[in-house]
Amino acid sequence: MDLLKTLEDLYSQQHFKSWAIESLSGAVRIPTESFDDMEKPGKDERWDIFADLHVYLEARFPLVFTSLAVKKVNTYGLVLYWQGSDPSLKPLMLTGHQDVVPVPDGAADLWKHPPYSGHYDGTYIWGRGSVDDKSTTISTLTTVETLLKHEFQPKRSVILAFGIDEESGGLQGAGAIAKYLLNTYGADSMAIIVDEGGGYMDYNNITLAAPMTAEKGRVDVLIEVTTLGGHSSMPPPHTGIGYLSKLISALEDNPFPVELVPGAALQAVQCLAAYDEALPKAYRELAAKAATDARAREQMKQILLGQPGMHDLFAARMGTTQAVDISQGGAKVNALPERSMAIVDHRIADWSSVAAVYEHYIDVLAPVTARFNLTLDAFGLLPNDTRPSAGYVRLAPTFHAPLEPAPIPPTFGAPAWDVLAGTIRATLSSSQRADSLSTKTPYVGPDVMMGNTDTQYYWNLTSNIYRYSHMGYLDLYNGAHTINEAIKAEGFLEMIRFHSRLILNADEAGAL
Ligand SMILES: [Zn+2]
Repeated sequence: MDLLKTLEDLYSQQHFKSWAIESLSGAVRIPTESFDDMEKPGKDERWDIFADLHVYLEARFPLVFTSLAVKKVNTYGLVLYWQGSDPSLKPLMLTGHQDVVPVPDGAADLWKHPPYSGHYDGTYIWGRGSVDDKSTTISTLTTVETLLKHEFQPKRSVILAFGIDEESGGLQGAGAIAKYLLNTYGADSMAIIVDEGGGYMDYNNITLAAPMTAEKGRVDVLIEVTTLGGHSSMPPPHTGIGYLSKLISALEDNPFPVELVPGAALQAVQCLAAYDEALPKAYRELAAKAATDARAREQMKQILLGQPGMHDLFAARMGTTQAVDISQGGAKVNALPERSMAIVDHRIADWSSVAAVYEHYIDVLAPVTARFNLTLDAFGLLPNDTRPSAGYVRLAPTFHAPLEPAPIPPTFGAPAWDVLAGTIRATLSSSQRADSLSTKTPYVGPDVMMGNTDTQYYWNLTSNIYRYSHMGYLDLYNGAHTINEAIKAEGFLEMIRFHSRLILNADEAGAL
């Protein structure tokens, strides 16, 4: 393909690299922080900085903003539509987010380079958003600008969608964008959605790239204990805080089950075992057997959980987690607490559900409330109990609507997966990087996303949702959301090669 060769030549040239790196640096310099307590755009001036980012993007990518149809959703959500010549092909949708997590007061001094400097030191591009997620956004825009410059006319339409509050739940950005896209194009109207998510990693003998196919669900549960109160000089054996601690202990003593079931977590283990010949033979054989053998899966689960220092990571990948993050109770030292509460953060296993979390609460806490003669209102699921009692326990979701685990997209052999996986392999095996990273044989396999992305709003747009950024884990100085967030320029430039190939390959692919 001539265009691909032209692009590869261009991408290897210093003037292009400098332009692309400066594009990311410039975006990092605009601190588009999003906060959990933000009102809608227009009602909260903390959004105003997003207008500066738009001015910057419009100046930096003039062809994108004059050739594509630009729709601003809920003021700052960006949807860019590139009309393809063949209306029978569903669009390719590439997404990212414009916002970053805030730099806490006082933390800026701890950075090697100021968090909004966008400083390029010849190796790394530094700053908040350099990894999460301005690299994705800028890589995508750089790709489309370059394709337009080369007069590429897609057959398949391309939609770029950039949310504004992914780091705060995504409702104002992706939530509004999803509504707009569903109204405009309808349900199941996109061929494939690729959002931020997994990346690639070097192992002993191979490079393994992992689009996140599964995404865990989420619910934060409020445990509220109400008692009559009274004077502390004549207390009952347990106060409200005491009851609350009994309930919390019961939860922590009975964690959610951890299961290695057929699915993304198992596939990730199997993929590595299948191709990394440096792993022990017995381990590799066990992983292969685990596809069809429940006893082998149980054995594999124990091995994964038993690896030194890895228990919590693998337990989180294979099960629903619980973290008691907030608790309050009591107002005065001589008064019994009338209201005591805790909030528990749960990330729900891809094979489980919100309902299973609620059932687990009832199974574990109902015996405790019965033992202490407390009335239990568990998510409104139990019959009303009007008997006199020592206190009242209420369980309810809080902060945000409960989120089920995401639907799992098709993988091996499905056209959408094959286009994505083929693009990743081709990008890795033709890598232009001058350093020695990721030049090993590349393989692509699914994995589990532990947090939530903007894609939680896009489920109705396609069943082919993949979370993948083509970011090398070794290209990150310190990870996302960290002090000293920085990305290797070599790695960022590879993201542009990936997005370019993805657009070209999806365009060639026919029906998806
Ligand atoms: Zn992100």
